[in-house]
Amino acid sequence: MSRKKSSRPPIPRFNTPIVETHCHLDYLPPEELGQTLALSAEVGIERIITIAVSPGNLDTVLALAQDHSQVWGTQGIHPHEAETYTTGVAARIVSGLADQRMLAVGEIGLDYHYDHSSRAVQRTVFEQQLQIAVDHGHPVVIHTRDADADTRAILENFSGKLTRKGVIHSFTSGMELAEYCLGEGFYLGFNGIATFNNAHQVRAVIEAAPLQQILLETDTPYLTPVPYRGKPNGPFYLPFIGQCLARVKNCDTETLLEHAYQNSYRLFFPDNPPRQIGGNVTG
Ligand SMILES: [Zn+2]
Repeated sequence: MSRKKSSRPPIPRFNTPIVETHCHLDYLPPEELGQTLALSAEVGIERIITIAVSPGNLDTVLALAQDHSQVWGTQGIHPHEAETYTTGVAARIVSGLADQRMLAVGEIGLDYHYDHSSRAVQRTVFEQQLQIAVDHGHPVVIHTRDADADTRAILENFSGKLTRKGVIHSFTSGMELAEYCLGEGFYLGFNGIATFNNAHQVRAVIEAAPLQQILLETDTPYLTPVPYRGKPNGPFYLPFIGQCLARVKNCDTETLLEHAYQNSYRLFFPDNPPRQIGGNVTG
């Protein structure tokens, strides 16, 4: 009984604050939101970015960010929902992005694994939302699954015009797409998948990616990291993901976290330099 409880280690605490760069707070049971935010703050999660996916949650994301000082958001339509995209939805994305707490266009992209929307529609809707980011100077949050070639072909047409680039979140694509995106100055986002036993390819990409281009995310409520796999996910598990990435990169966790923190600010909060961190200031 109590032995089973103690088999899961407590969430480790680090000195470096952490930014959750990709989660879906509106998918949590509403009665769990307060507790999720409180526990996240307690373990050092300083800012949380909750991601829009559909016409039905654009306003929900806005409201979450307006109601909670540590929460920011994005506006965009997920490839699964591409067939719901209309000029009216595009106009709502643009007007939502006028809110200072909406940081990026996303999540947008291609998902040829599930094919919930036709591939041709996914491509068009991805391109149209990239154009919104270009026109308004926003970064992008990209979802790509089993669509490496088409994602690259589309990014080749837009990357040069995207002044603030963006992140390929939950990166599970091949090394070739990773190298292309890194070369273009995009960030790669990693989550609990990195902790899974069979995720050898993801860890190979983490090894290859410079510390300066890595972001941390949970993709809550999905993809709970080891050692809590099977439990509901929350941004409060990010320290485990930081630990895992540090192990893969063969550096200490504070170093990994410090890079991830600076990277998160560089991409999403360029006007708010992060608070001074690191131990070398006192001499
Ligand atoms: Zn997502």
